[in-house]
Amino acid sequence: MPADPSILISEACERHGSSPEALLQVLREIQEVQHCISAEAAQQVAAALGQPLGRVLGVAGFYAFLSTTPAGRYRVLFSDNITDRMLGNMDLLAALCEKLWVERGRVSEDGLVSVDTTSCTGLCDQGPAILVNGWAIPNVTGDRLGLIAELILAKVPVENWPPELMAVQDNIRRRDILLNHGLAPGDALRSAMGRDCEPGSPVEAAANERSWREGIPSGALCAPMATLEEIKRSNLRGRGGAGFTTGLKWEACRNATGPDRYVVCNADEGEPGTFKDRVLLSRHADLVFEGMTVAAHAIGARKGFLYLRGEYRFLLAPLNAVLARRRSENLLGLSILGQAGFDFDIEIHLGAGAYVCGEESALIESLEGKRGIPRNRPPYPVTHGYLQRPTVVNNVETFCAAALIAKHGGDWYRGIGTEKSAGTKLLSVSGDCARPGIYEYPFGTPVCQILADCGAENTQAVQISGPSGVCIAADEFDRRIAFEDLPTAGAFTVFDHSRDMFEVARNYTHFFAHESCGFCTPCRVGTAMLRNTMDKIASGHGTPCDLREIERLDKVLQMSAHCGLGHTACNPTLDTVKRFRPAYERRLKSLEFEPAFDLDGALARARQMTGRDDAGAHLSTEVSE
Ligand code: SF4
Repeated sequence: MPADPSILISEACERHGSSPEALLQVLREIQEVQHCISAEAAQQVAAALGQPLGRVLGVAGFYAFLSTTPAGRYRVLFSDNITDRMLGNMDLLAALCEKLWVERGRVSEDGLVSVDTTSCTGLCDQGPAILVNGWAIPNVTGDRLGLIAELILAKVPVENWPPELMAVQDNIRRRDILLNHGLAPGDALRSAMGRDCEPGSPVEAAANERSWREGIPSGALCAPMATLEEIKRSNLRGRGGAGFTTGLKWEACRNATGPDRYVVCNADEGEPGTFKDRVLLSRHADLVFEGMTVAAHAIGARKGFLYLRGEYRFLLAPLNAVLARRRSENLLGLSILGQAGFDFDIEIHLGAGAYVCGEESALIESLEGKRGIPRNRPPYPVTHGYLQRPTVVNNVETFCAAALIAKHGGDWYRGIGTEKSAGTKLLSVSGDCARPGIYEYPFGTPVCQILADCGAENTQAVQISGPSGVCIAADEFDRRIAFEDLPTAGAFTVFDHSRDMFEVARNYTHFFAHESCGFCTPCRVGTAMLRNTMDKIASGHGTPCDLREIERLDKVLQMSAHCGLGHTACNPTLDTVKRFRPAYERRLKSLEFEPAFDLDGALARARQMTGRDDAGAHLSTEVSE
């Protein structure tokens, strides 16, 4: 890495093609080396990429892993999902701050280190977890933290830390058709390319008509259209949460007008409690890339992107190695598998710590080097996606399933699962269970079976699909994982009876307030109000009136928030109030109204400065029973 910052910046810009879309990737690289985006660096980047300085600073200020002020040469971030809390992350954070003589959220005086929290890092099956300069470290214990502190004080570069500190396990506990796929690289693609239309079928007629319209040899479009037909027949629905029918999405993109089409894999899983994509990318990267290439073949795309969440930085080099191998095997690149005109390649873009980028239009904005703010829809990405061109965006697991369907056919896939939910679902199981990890089940599997398999005992509640999903109690454990009952993006977080469900919900409200992108006022203000109300209840100042206010807040957010984050922000609170009301009631005052402002608490600093803590220095805190 060049010592001269200006050389570093110009090299980074050139490496990424000096295009405006490279902005986030360039800023990430500068942050990694210089630990902040200085004013000079921002100006140089703006000039090199031909962008206004305000846009560069806007992007630098938007993403959590970028900073415009020095963040410490070692930036330690503790994952702060509820499962990390349950495993004692806050005590470990305090212990590390003490060892390093640094205050949480501040940079040490010598600029060496800063310690703070971040949202879920996708390592809930092996928490508590931390990121150090973006590198993930699972299973943090007091001993491991001691070693980490020594390495930091000795100024050992993170890249040279003992590999065993960084070892992330896959923890695959149950396999089904996907995790047991047995396909060799290229198998699914060869099947897709070799598929033919049934003579005289509507698919053949449509392919011939299109071939004629586009001036290409008759029948040359048969294979892509036949594959598309199999995807439609399979009834595959997107695995990212929304559950849109994949075949229809691909078809709409294929039929959209325009010279270029794009395939985007959304590997920005940020829902607290979800980590299945991490395992698919680490164990089955070929299948992910194969599914993307099948999609490219079906819709006629020449370029694809894998948008990898910043927390999975450690997967970047292995994934690039898989891409390089696939290019050498002619599974990517020009004339794939010898078919003239079938050109497709994939690039990896690394995110920088913004949960909202999991929303597909925000992800596209981020891919274009902008702040990850969800777009107005319509138009939808299938017609106006990346660079306003037709774009298919699918989840990692969806592309894996598409590769299986390309190989085995739609009827085979549709025969697994339930009538409305074809195939299998990967679950990221964590929390109070003996065997956290990845479980693959056919759709329709009841919650109680999953609990038994993962060794959960005395279970009080399960949070399905993370904080934006649904929290169910024991009397609902016969419900099934399926779009028609309990849809899920994959998170399955278990809480036993020792857990306080109010604190679970409070943690999630902090998550939403932290991750709100701030674009629309109802969400920006509403998530903060929700968090403050839960904090007010936690401090013993809540009343039944606050619970009614949360219901009203939910209605406002449902009506006026711009994207799903705002729409779902109240879910964890409403669900837990409904199912675990005593956890709230024992904290509530029996008053109709209690101000959120704690006057006595506000005097704490004055008491500290005057050295007084006698009764006269306090306002009355008596609580009526
Ligand atoms: S709802 Fe929240 S996250 Fe979504 S755009 Fe508005 S402010 Fe951003």
